[in-house]
Parts: sequence; structure tokens; C-alpha cells
Amino acid sequence: MANADFDLFVIGAGSAGVRAARFAADRGARVALAESGPLGGTCVNAGCIPKRLLSYAAELGDDFALCRAYGWGLDSPSFDWATLIANKDAEIRRLNEVYAGLLKRSGVSVVHGRAKLVDAHRIAVAGKTYSARSILIATGGKPQGATFAGSEFAITSNEAFHLPELPKRIVIVGAGYIAVEFASIFAGLGREVTLLVRGERILKNFDLDIGPFLARELVKRGITIRFKTSLREITRGPAEFSCETLDGERLTTDLVMLATGRVPNTADLGLESAGIDLRPDGSIAIDATYRTGVPSIFAVGDVIGRVQLTPVALAEAMIAVEHILGRSTQRAINYDEIATAVFSHPNVGTVGLTEELARGRGHKISIFRSEFTSLRNTLPHAPERTLMKLVVDAQSDRVLGAHMVGANAGDIIQGIAVALRCKVRKADFDETIGIHPTLAEEFVTMREAVKETDSPGAADLAHEAPTQMP
Ligand code: FAD
Ligand code: NDP
Repeated sequence: MANADFDLFVIGAGSAGVRAARFAADRGARVALAESGPLGGTCVNAGCIPKRLLSYAAELGDDFALCRAYGWGLDSPSFDWATLIANKDAEIRRLNEVYAGLLKRSGVSVVHGRAKLVDAHRIAVAGKTYSARSILIATGGKPQGATFAGSEFAITSNEAFHLPELPKRIVIVGAGYIAVEFASIFAGLGREVTLLVRGERILKNFDLDIGPFLARELVKRGITIRFKTSLREITRGPAEFSCETLDGERLTTDLVMLATGRVPNTADLGLESAGIDLRPDGSIAIDATYRTGVPSIFAVGDVIGRVQLTPVALAEAMIAVEHILGRSTQRAINYDEIATAVFSHPNVGTVGLTEELARGRGHKISIFRSEFTSLRNTLPHAPERTLMKLVVDAQSDRVLGAHMVGANAGDIIQGIAVALRCKVRKADFDETIGIHPTLAEEFVTMREAVKETDSPGAADLAHEAPTQMP
């Protein structure tokens, strides 16, 4: 492929695609990037950024409630959804332009339109065909649809960011990241939220103490959670929706949102003509270097169906580009050590192994766990509690996992993630002087392991402080 138009052709200008294109171009490669929508992909346009902006709005509602105890007098605050959405949209447009500027400065050729593979080295976009020595597929994912009767009346997170108004009653189906984040946003903005959870736990893939603890906090904030059920049917009436649950209950609501996972964006991409294999879940099969079965074609980000997080997409993109450019690299992602946060209210932060995963891998473990009322919540007598938990290998003293539900959990866990990468021991936590009075200090003051039991997660609370103490 000596005479190819480009060294690298990237499909999809989301987190992964933009990072890959710039990273390769900054290293001297001739790069093109095709995008069928706005630059920035899910994270910028319908994910992390707009979600966090809406969640800040909802958190401010909480702050108003705490204000009076701290001496502030406030006339009853009012909230305007249209203002929030207009300001959010303006910020997203600004970010779209920032991305365009970054790509231009790196010398990446941006092609607007839907790209389709023609063969192992050629891509068709908007009526033109381009050739490239290597191709990177970074087409992300989209919300998983549903097939029950009336499911077409339900929205997904995509539409939630553009609702003309925020109705009074909202039913959300799902119990993962998006379901609990949007339940918190809508409830924080004063709406009546019902969460339908098909299993017995929310955030099922997190440490098993997290879901039940967070569920109690969500209920304190007025969210109704119904476990072991889902929707069978939605019927549209003149002014509202009538929903029938799997257990035969009828719910009347103004809006139904499905948050039941995301599927890889691989439809009509020409994968068959290029000879690329999919895994049973529809994601693109790749090897340890992010190369597909076709040697010139690589794939990264949500479309490979591993960990669907922006920082992971960025890291995969840079590693893949090093392989594409033929640079020898030892860099590899340890998928066990990826820190993550759920921006529910309160937040969840987590890194490393859950208690059950650690046990499952044969570790003999000690659990350190603390549940308390933060100092900030004492004056207003706010009912919110904070949970912190460390999973420690009892033999080596290595900290295997850290989990938290509470204010700024993501920020706190980010620091602990660095320590875990450095193979921190529990003794290091114990010898670290805390910063007082903060929430985070609790992580370095948990001294006594909870009593060992055979049953995971059923350990007694050995360190339960009713409030944060000096
Ligand atoms: P995407 O960002 O989805 O980009 C793929 C791009 O490819 C899109 O722009 C799409 O238009 C384009 N495309 C698709 N097919 C074609 C084609 N044939 N031709 C041309 N272009 C094409 N992650 C976090 O880390 N933190 C968060 O707080 C967070 N919040 C989220 C909230 C929501 C509501 C959602 C849905 C996701 C959230 N995520 C979050 C996940 C994060 O957004 C994704 O993991 C990340 O965007 C994946 O990046 P990507 O580049 O793989 O895909
Ligand atoms: P998740 O995989 O987090 O959760 C999907 C939820 O839907 C689970 O609770 C699952 O139940 C439930 N579910 C699946 N199918 C059905 C069904 N047919 N009926 C009822 N319930 C169903 O997906 P999300 O859509 O919430 O988010 C997608 C991904 O995006 C996340 O995994 C995450 O990687 C990323 N994301 C990250 C965020 C962040 O970093 N803060 C925020 C938002 C998204 P069960 O638990 O029983 O399997």
C-alpha cells in the first residue's frame, strides 16, 4: 500500500477516534478522520459532559436544602429546565469547535459523512473512496433497544438531553450507570422517579455493598425503586403513558426512559466486505494489539465491547496507534485496575477488585468498612450517609480494591487508583497522615478489619461511626 491516500484512516470522531487521529498525526502520520455526526462523539454530545452538567444542576438543588442550617436565607429557589438545556447546548457547541481546532492544528483531514469499509484498505464516505495503509474503527455504541409492546414511546439517554420540558413523573428501566445517574438528576430537579430493576440489586457489577447502600440513599431522596420487575407494555393515552410491569402492576407516568445497556455501532459498516469478525455480543473481535482478524484494520473504544468509559477509549486509542505505526510498545491496559465513578447522588467511586471478585480469585481477604454521616451533613441533619470500603489481601497486605459511596467519590478514588497501581499495602494507608476534616481521611483511619465470615458481603460493621469524628 505504498501509494495510499493516508497512513491511517479513522472511522468515528468520538473520544477514541479523535485521540487516535491526533496522536498519529502528531507523530508524523498522514491521517484522515470520518464522522457522521458532531465531533466529540458520545462523551461530548450525549454522554459524560452533558450528563455531568445536568447532574451539577441537580446537586445544586441539594445544596439549597442544606443552606438554611448554615445561616443562609433563601427565597424559595426556582428551576428552569429550558435555561439549563440552552446553556448546556452552548457549552457542547463550544467543545465541538475546540475539537475541530485541535484536529486542524494536528493536520488531520476531517471527512464529514458516514463511512463504510470497501475492503481491507479502502473506505467510502459521501460518494468518495479513500485508501489507507491502516484503518481504525472507533464507531462507539448506541442505546440497546427493546421489543416489548409500546417500547417505541420510551426515550433513551440520547433524547433525555433534548427534552423540551421535564415532566413531573418519570419511569426509568434499568439499574446500571445511566439509570441511577438519570434517576438522581431527575429526582434532584424535583421530579417523581420510579426505577424498575429487573434483578435484586442496582449497580450489580459493583462491589456487593455498593448497590444496596446506594439504593437506600436514592430512596431517601424520594426515588421509588421496584426490584425484580421490568416493563411488559407501554400504552399512550391523550396526556400520559400507562405502563404494565412484568408483575402485572399498572403505572401512570409522563415519560418512560430505557437505560438497559449499550450495543456496539457496527451496522452497515461494511465489516463483511472487509472480512472482520464479530463476537457474539456484536462487538468487534480484536487481539492484544487491538488488531482485528484483518491485519490492516484495528478497533478501539466502545465498539470492542470491553470497558465503555472515555479514559479507557483514550488509552486504547494511543496503544493501538503505537502498534499501527509499528513502534515497539510495552504499554497495555490493566482492565482490573480501572477506576470509575457513577455520578448518582451521592456519587459512587470504585477501583480494583470487588469483595466477591477477590474471593472468587482465591484471595484470603480482610475487609475494612466504614459508614458514617459526613461533617457537612451534621448541621442540616441531612440523612445522607457515606460508605467506604477497602478489600485487602490478608497474606500480602496488598489493597486489592477501594469502593465508596459519598460526595466526590470519583475525585477521592482517583487518588487511590494511583496508589493501587503502585501496589499499595494496607500498612501504607495506616501510616498515611489524614487530612482533617475531610471525607477522604476515613480511608486512612479504618484500623480494624470487619469480622471474617464465609459469606461475602455479610461481614459485620466493625467500624461504624455515626458521624465523622475528630
Ligand atoms: P463514541 O464516543 O460513541 O464515538 C463514536 C463516533 O463514531 C460517534 O461520533 C459516531 O457518530 C461515529 N460513527 C459511528 N459510525 C460511524 C460511521 N459509519 N461513519 C462515521 N462515523 C461514525 N464515560 C466516562 O468515562 N465517564 C462518564 O461520566 C460517562 N458518562 C456517560 C453518560 C452517558 C449517557 C453515556 C451514553 C455514556 C457515558 N460514558 C461515560 C461512556 C463514554 O461516553 C464512552 O465510553 C465513550 O464516548 C466511548 O468513546 P468511543 O470513541 O469509543 O465512541
Ligand atoms: P449498564 O451496563 O451499566 O447497565 C445496564 C442495566 O440495564 C443493568 O442494570 C441491566 O440489568 C439492565 N438491563 C439490561 N437489559 C435489560 C432488560 N431487557 N430489561 C430490564 N433491564 C435490563 O448500561 P448503561 O446503559 O447504564 O450504560 C452503558 C455504559 O456506558 C456503562 O456500562 C458504562 O460503561 C458507560 N457509562 C459510564 C458512565 C460513567 O462513567 N459515569 C455513565 C453512563 C454510562 P442487570 O444489572 O440485571 O444486568
